[in-house]
Amino acid sequence: MAQCILQVENLHVSYGPIRALKGISLTVREREIVALLGANGAGKTTLLKTISGLLVPHQGKILFKGEDITGQDPTFIVQRKVIHVPEHRQVFGTLTVLDNLYLGAYHHYRSTGKEQIEQDLEKVFNLFPILKERKQQLAGTLSGGQQQMLAIARGVMAKPDVLLLDEPTLGLAPIVAKEVLELIQELNRSFGTTVLLIEQNIVASLKIAHRGYVIAQGEIVKEGEAQALLDDDEVKEAYLGHA
Ligand code: ATP
Repeated sequence: MAQCILQVENLHVSYGPIRALKGISLTVREREIVALLGANGAGKTTLLKTISGLLVPHQGKILFKGEDITGQDPTFIVQRKVIHVPEHRQVFGTLTVLDNLYLGAYHHYRSTGKEQIEQDLEKVFNLFPILKERKQQLAGTLSGGQQQMLAIARGVMAKPDVLLLDEPTLGLAPIVAKEVLELIQELNRSFGTTVLLIEQNIVASLKIAHRGYVIAQGEIVKEGEAQALLDDDEVKEAYLGHA
């Protein structure tokens, strides 16, 4: 079995009096896609923000490749190649597609060198050909789906060991959303990128994921192989509308 790359143990996070995470534990293994499922307000975004160092837990631990990264700042976490692609596809609209992609490589520019970055860029363009076509275009003028692809591609330029994706298909037309999820699967298959994915479309995300966790009110209420969750009566009842 693949090694555990990310381990979250008994994580508690609050916003003042609001207890958003109440003892979350989970594991992500190398080369897995793990889906985080649950209703709005369940705590999924809080979990990703805590892993990437944007929020500090008041209890619990986060281990990355066995190293305790709990409470470290975001720069430290990015240097570990844990890369967070937040909600609402935050690309730099007034920069070109190409400059957005170069910014993704910013943290390892000195250690990697220009040649390697150009090679990474070519790989990214193979995966996202539309971005190559539009590389000189201002990112703000791309369609919603293309901006989402750019946000993910910028994350890929950071050479992630783990990619944390927060609702990458939010607001996209179903056909474009499907394309984005297929790209995430392709990224996992061809780059071996490990992905922790929050996705509103539960069926579609479990179809590309290996495993999943269901979060409700800050706690994990169910976990399992993706197919087992798709077949689970309680999951169907609560989240799939008796699908
Ligand atoms: P969504 O799909 O709506 O983003 P989520 O599962 O990602 O939901 P979180 O955004 O993590 O859930 O929210 C978990 C809880 O924390 C909710 O009760 C939410 O209202 C609360 N919360 C989130 N952000 C803040 C904040 N900045 N200040 C106060 N409470 C917050």
